[in-house]
Amino acid sequence: VLSMKKPENGSNQFDVVVIGGGTAGWIAALSAAREGKSTALVERKGYCGGVLSSGLSIYGFHDTTHRQIVRGYAEEFVKRLAESGGSDGYVLLDLWHASMVPVDPAIVKPVIMEMLYEAGVQTILFSQVIEVVRNKRRIEGVVLQQKSGRCYIEGKMFIDASGDAIVSYLAGLPVVECDEQQPPTLVLRLENVRLDELREFLVQHPDQYVNWRLLPGKSVTEDFLRKACKFMILPDLMKTFEYAGDYLPLINRVMFTCTAGGTGVSINMLRAHSIDGTSSESLTRASFDVYRNVLPLVEFFRTKVPGFSQCRLMDCEPEIQLRETRRIVGAYSIEVEDIMQGLMPEDSVAMGGYFIDIHSAKDSGGTWEMIEGGYGIPYRALYAADADNLFAAGRCISGSTKAAGSYRVMATSMAMGQAVGTAASMCVDRGVSAKALKISDLQKRLESRGALLR
Ligand SMILES: Cc1cc2nc3c(=O)[nH]c(=O)nc-3n(C[C@H](O)[C@H](O)[C@H](O)COP(=O)(O)OP(=O)(O)OC[C@H]3O[C@@H](n4cnc5c(N)ncnc54)[C@H](O)[C@@H]3O)c2cc1C
Repeated sequence: VLSMKKPENGSNQFDVVVIGGGTAGWIAALSAAREGKSTALVERKGYCGGVLSSGLSIYGFHDTTHRQIVRGYAEEFVKRLAESGGSDGYVLLDLWHASMVPVDPAIVKPVIMEMLYEAGVQTILFSQVIEVVRNKRRIEGVVLQQKSGRCYIEGKMFIDASGDAIVSYLAGLPVVECDEQQPPTLVLRLENVRLDELREFLVQHPDQYVNWRLLPGKSVTEDFLRKACKFMILPDLMKTFEYAGDYLPLINRVMFTCTAGGTGVSINMLRAHSIDGTSSESLTRASFDVYRNVLPLVEFFRTKVPGFSQCRLMDCEPEIQLRETRRIVGAYSIEVEDIMQGLMPEDSVAMGGYFIDIHSAKDSGGTWEMIEGGYGIPYRALYAADADNLFAAGRCISGSTKAAGSYRVMATSMAMGQAVGTAASMCVDRGVSAKALKISDLQKRLESRGALLR
């Protein structure tokens, strides 16, 4: 492995190597590079952002009391997006979701690329990590499959932001395989939607807004409906959907959010049942189950949902997106009780505040629980217990399925990315392991970079 060639056009020795350029990974790389470290960001696709680039609204910037709990580089990103017309900024909601940031996915990708470029991250696209070299408790390097063949890169610290805990898995370190994975979903985007027509319909028929996720004391008023950006509506209509395949591949209500600009929506209703997101064969089946229903769903919207008669399908995400597969085994596992109690651990380095949102693996339902306020993400859940130099961020950190139902959302994932990118950089400077890093020093550094920790 050591005699393998360098990546096309690049160095093969880095201070920090981030695997996965998705929601959490790109911010992790940005953070390490801004701390002055030579940083590689390895991504198997041809763009960065992962689910963040799908057009779904960003949740997790506020808790259910509407307190802002994520700032730092994630907030800077929202500002940069807004300046480029790619977002309308924060929208506070009277729902358990607390707030959302509608985005335009066409603008998300270039803004991320520009920020990575400015920070000097060596981004290595079209490159999949397929092997990991480990020497006892140290990750030494990763083997990449590139278009022209294989290459090897080394790093002092590694960050696994693959969503699949792929570094731990390939290194032979312990991982948690999620046994009943939440369903993957294909995200669609429709344009030329007359949202005001839909809102007017809902004002006339308020019972058609599914109101069971309202914050305490809130109700579906005319004002609520006229300003709505998050729609969970027409609960009985899905029964009339004529699907292709063996089962109804949809959530049991019409559900979508606005994208930036006010004429488009992003739909995350199409999902596949009983899938293993770590198996290409299973994901192929999932892709057929959902793609075969794209055109029927668009036709359904056109003919049955008020405001959609002239809509146009703008985009299907390039691939079906995964909610959960595998997680690292950290020095601590975040449990749902921590979240329900609003625990702020001593070593909190980021905050979550989204409700527990678990999509059913087998049918069109799910389980949902409101949480009272924000909670801290402990540093101990962000590094692998059995390695000295391996962090994680995003959906593959150490936690239970129920807890992940809350902390996996995008603002929280980005805040984790900033925490571990900064931590990895400090470990390089001090020549210490992830475990040995002085947490109060990390917390001070994060706060000086605008992050909120408790
Ligand atoms: C369908 C769906 C709907 C959701 N809806 C919302 C929502 O509306 N709002 C919200 O805030 N959150 C939502 N979430 C949750 C949230 O988007 C994700 O949990 C979060 O984006 C996860 O971030 P991540 O960085 O861990 O993973 P991702 O964003 O998926 O990034 C992982 C990256 O790693 C790359 N990668 C994987 N393996 C390798 C490898 N071997 N080599 C190189 N690269 C690799 C992938 O290509 C990908 O780019 C949704 C999630 C899903 C799946």
